[in-house]
Amino acid sequence: MVIATAQVAVPVPLLQRFDYLPAADGQLPSIGSRVLVPFGRRRLVALVVGHGQAADSPQLKPIERVLDQALVEPRLLELADWTVRYYGCAPGEMVNLLLPPALRRLKPFRPAPPGRLAITAAGQRADAARAPRQAAVLKWLEQGPRERQELLKLGASAAVLKTLVDKGWVAPAGAEGVVALEPGPVLNTEQRLALAAVLRARHRHETLLLAGVTGSGKTEVYLQAARALLRRGRQVLMLIPEIGLTPQLIRRIEARLGVAALVYHSSLSEGERLACWRSAASGQARVIVGTRSAVFLPLARPGLIVVDEEHDASFKQQDGARYHGRDVAVMRAHLLGIPIVLGSATPALESLNNVRNGRYRMLKISRRAGAARPPRWSVADLRGQRGALDSALLVTMQRHLDDGGQVLLYRNRRGYAPVLMCPACGWQADCQRCDAHLTLHQGIRRLQCHHCGAAQRLPPRCPACGEPELLPLGAGTERLEAELRSRFPTTPVYRVDRDSMSRRDEFARLLERVRQGEPCILVGTQMLAKGHHLPGVTLAAVLDVDQALFSADFRAPERLGQAVCQVAGRAGRGDRAGRFILQSRHPEHPLLAQLCRADYLSFAEQLLDERIAAGLPPSASLALLKAEAHRPESARDFLAAAAARMNEAEVEVNGPIPAVLSRRGGYWRFQLWLQAPRRARLLQVLPDWLAGLHALPDARRVRWHLDMDPLEI
Ligand code: ADP
Ligand code: ZN
Ligand code: ZN
Repeated sequence: MVIATAQVAVPVPLLQRFDYLPAADGQLPSIGSRVLVPFGRRRLVALVVGHGQAADSPQLKPIERVLDQALVEPRLLELADWTVRYYGCAPGEMVNLLLPPALRRLKPFRPAPPGRLAITAAGQRADAARAPRQAAVLKWLEQGPRERQELLKLGASAAVLKTLVDKGWVAPAGAEGVVALEPGPVLNTEQRLALAAVLRARHRHETLLLAGVTGSGKTEVYLQAARALLRRGRQVLMLIPEIGLTPQLIRRIEARLGVAALVYHSSLSEGERLACWRSAASGQARVIVGTRSAVFLPLARPGLIVVDEEHDASFKQQDGARYHGRDVAVMRAHLLGIPIVLGSATPALESLNNVRNGRYRMLKISRRAGAARPPRWSVADLRGQRGALDSALLVTMQRHLDDGGQVLLYRNRRGYAPVLMCPACGWQADCQRCDAHLTLHQGIRRLQCHHCGAAQRLPPRCPACGEPELLPLGAGTERLEAELRSRFPTTPVYRVDRDSMSRRDEFARLLERVRQGEPCILVGTQMLAKGHHLPGVTLAAVLDVDQALFSADFRAPERLGQAVCQVAGRAGRGDRAGRFILQSRHPEHPLLAQLCRADYLSFAEQLLDERIAAGLPPSASLALLKAEAHRPESARDFLAAAAARMNEAEVEVNGPIPAVLSRRGGYWRFQLWLQAPRRARLLQVLPDWLAGLHALPDARRVRWHLDMDPLEI
């Protein structure tokens, strides 16, 4: 006998959905329902993703309980289903993608009431002159919504806040209605054209690549587009690579749009995430700013998606469902029939290729906004330099500081020195579990592996020959900071990296201080290069690019170009002219020459030509089957067996070859390259092939996964 079943995505790492019988009441829950199901000996929270039929068998079990009927809407299920198929991961991942953590557990969860307050339109018009304590609160809120706690700290009493809420002058943020507060600048011609293009697409789907040089006013374009859509009652979802930038951005959005902007990212508490999820689903949240996982937030009235810094690699998830937030966002906008704006000063080659083949439309902003001009570039030859800092650079820095400017130095290496060596016998401090050196962290007197996290105390002498004086080679940000402090004793030196800025608000506070404009020196990693608007910086320098010039990773030149242009883009964003210096021991290298000669877009177009000529992504579609094991043979044999099972003429198979970092955390890492000129072909053959791999003899001895559109090789 054939009976009706619910197809359920159960959060287990198996490549299938599971059939369940209706719950005790005999009704099949509707698609998108959250259910509790028995699975082996466990009971798991799962999602109904389809209805089906199955032959009656004693193995079929009923759903234990329906927790929420139709919790997830069909288009969102479709998006998650596309994601698990495209990225070749287990359908059970849909549960993790679609539900906030609080809803993945059986225990009911009660979130705290919203703590943010905002001024309402009535509050704006209100005359509180005779109640100075109320007037003070209104005045604070005129600059944008604030935390209740913050208002209390500023001196507001709970009673005053209650009175204001009762009068309707203040409301929980998100419920106060649209009140445009700050007018914002008048857009220039290119910004206006871009805005018009976004608004023209508001009734249909279009992907717009907003390629605007650093400081060209891309955010202004997003804000004005958002404002137009908010007025029509729609919601706006903005994806950003990392949370470091959010406080500043949230303030700007709220001050300009007059609505609360909600944030969504994984370092929020479960309660905060659930509150945001619910508020987005109900339509109360008008603007939501989040990292990649926010792409799956339910939206009652979606109008626009923005992906800022779309080139940033942090949009790609590196475990579980290895999806790319930008690409899923494009698919989501497509399913919703709404426009999506991908913004960057340094677009990814993937996006530029999609412009070439007509899938995306490019909108350019070629000049900086307002009075700011592009910085003047030069390449400094590092050959013959001794010490961590080049003397010519020090002279230039002094000049900029004397003129009241700020200096920003970029070095993508944290710690004191990337290598610790014995000058007597040549011993080097290496990680026992990785194919990598240990980094010296002088302040905490430890050696750390930046790949597996292993750490040990600094040895008092060479473990090989007993030599007492060990030699740190090269300079990370910690060493640069120390040297800068001794060279510029009267100038504040701020280090920006994960070690020095471990607390979430620390970095925001530092940026605030730097924006006051006092001359200072900033030295830091990638964190410093991203999207910050620091109008006082007149000199920016990249201290060493040479490692990237000779990397085995085919994406290295693209990343180098992006980092260099982003750092250069920090200089001269205010009214004073900027200067940019690129240091290298290979100043004649063609990549550097080309970066300096041309703008990023022409540089990137040439890289794209080279990728296409070499048959590499984005011209071909690439998936990596990655495997790691304690014994290198296990990983290699598994991949070789997998390769032998791929019998598809259109899919080119290469490998097994070692990963760029061939050993990490004690595991030997290998990969199989699967490439096809047409993505559709790859997607057709991968699911069956992957399912078959589970049957291979080594499949359980080896840790393996598929990485579709990989960013790390
Ligand atoms: P991006 O997002 O491209 O880095 P922003 O939108 O942050 O650029 O703009 C950089 C600075 O220029 C901001 O201080 C912004 O207020 C200002 N700005 C943007 N557009 C204009 C404009 N049309 N006229 C004057 N100033 C502008
Ligand atoms: Zn030694
Ligand atoms: Zn290690």
